[in-house]
Amino acid sequence: MTGYGTLWPMSMSETPVSTYRNFIDGQWVPAESAATFDNRSPANQDDLLGRVPMSSAADVGQAVAAARAAFPHWRLAPAPRRAEILYRAAQILSDRKQDLAATMTREMGKILDETRGDVQEAVDMAQLMAGEGRRMYGQTVPSELRDKFAMSLRQPIGVCGMITAWNFPIAVPSWKILPALVCGNTVVFKPAEEAPASAINFVQALADAGLPKGVLNLVLGDGPGAGAPLLAHPDVSVISFTGSTETGRLINQACAPTFKKVHLEMGGKNAILVMDDANLELAVDGALWGGFGTTGQRCTAASRVVVHEKVYKAFLDAFVARAKTLRVGDGLDPNTQMGPSVSEAQLQRVIEYVAIGQQEGARLATGGTRLTTGAWSKGFFHEPTVFADVTRSMRIAREEIFGPVVSVLSCASLDEAIDIANDVAYGLSASIYTQDINKAFVAMRDVYTGIFYVNAPTIGAEVHLPFGGTKATGNGHREAGTAALDVFSEWKSVYVDFSGKLQRAQIDVVDI
Ligand code: NAD
Repeated sequence: MTGYGTLWPMSMSETPVSTYRNFIDGQWVPAESAATFDNRSPANQDDLLGRVPMSSAADVGQAVAAARAAFPHWRLAPAPRRAEILYRAAQILSDRKQDLAATMTREMGKILDETRGDVQEAVDMAQLMAGEGRRMYGQTVPSELRDKFAMSLRQPIGVCGMITAWNFPIAVPSWKILPALVCGNTVVFKPAEEAPASAINFVQALADAGLPKGVLNLVLGDGPGAGAPLLAHPDVSVISFTGSTETGRLINQACAPTFKKVHLEMGGKNAILVMDDANLELAVDGALWGGFGTTGQRCTAASRVVVHEKVYKAFLDAFVARAKTLRVGDGLDPNTQMGPSVSEAQLQRVIEYVAIGQQEGARLATGGTRLTTGAWSKGFFHEPTVFADVTRSMRIAREEIFGPVVSVLSCASLDEAIDIANDVAYGLSASIYTQDINKAFVAMRDVYTGIFYVNAPTIGAEVHLPFGGTKATGNGHREAGTAALDVFSEWKSVYVDFSGKLQRAQIDVVDI
């Protein structure tokens, strides 16, 4: 295998700064255009990992052609054999976990514990989907006519275009690519601009696991240049997208003329509800991890905490005290608890929302400032920030910030807490802290999100359950679990009549 097999085991000193290549038809190939942009560490802008090609419609066209050519053979490969490649990929990813995590931390900033978890999620998904190679259940059902057999089965769809965000640079692609592959589809993958090396590493692992050429193709570049051509391409049948709601809307519109199947996983504004009977220490732990894990850059981040007025002050004091102690720095340092924002633009968004919160009259309880001294000066660091006395109409309580900013709101009852939780455009995740099982079940039923936790924060999904959200978070599909198979396969209902005569359903009633 030519190309970037050497990319994954790298440390800063031994890394050659090269221009990354696309992976098309089993080969690492340069993009047609010589234009590139830099892949630099958000913790240290002096650390240049590589140069990312600005691929264009021409590169996408080649990748789609390769995927299309590979489809007839891959479609007919027995699913258990396809699954063997996924099992091998799981092992390879597991073996390379430390190195892949280190590269991921370098290029997008989250701390090593989290990047190791990101790779582990892909391992889990590979194992889960490999298992599907021997299941992928359909139905066999009785027929209403004699001597007739009825069943449903899944069939692959064709070439799937995967467009992903940077915050889970191996996990999220694995949620899409692995179910698509086990179902018998072929793939063109356009990863986020901010995490190309992780995409390369993931693709290399699958290539090393023995994926035939053309089955998985990688095209690097930006959204308009390398993503948009996939949406317009007539030979792409499915688009699976993870990213912002704004981009998701554009994608949906762009795919409409060719009736592509479109799977959208988009933004969130997730709430933790803390009731007056909650274990407050546990709730503070959860709010810290949910709000500041991944520097708040998770679609499931707990960016709102709705606290019962009876425990509001006690919770807030403890939460703020803990937020102040979080160690912010380079994610490669094992002592760091919170890394940088992924980019200057993302950090500017955080700074903008801090100003908005202050203008709206929320009380800045801690944080609110960019960190610029010492080692922080080379990256995109910001203090963990808590706004208190936030009301539900404020923009900081309604809009996705995607940074280390948590809004704390007060409520007078469970009903009001649920109402606040639901009163946003998004519907990804929510959670409740309570010791009262009745309250937990009411909230579980009435909070309209795709994911719900009891006595745990809004983050921490496991791969064998469906993942996704309602309202402006999603368009009705789910990743992960067996639900993912629904995105990447079509149902076919099959009737086999072995009576030897014409039998008409609904008309020829069988005598018994
Ligand atoms: P983004 O929408 O800016 O970009 C996502 C991807 O879309 C990138 O690969 C980008 O290149 C591509 N893209 C951009 N414009 C395009 C276009 N016109 N045509 C085709 N592709 C285009 O999002 P981001 O900033 O990378 O990620 C952050 C967002 O992702 C947040 O809103 C977050 O909530 C969301 N997210 C959601 C989930 C989920 O599962 N619901 C998971 C992770 C992240």
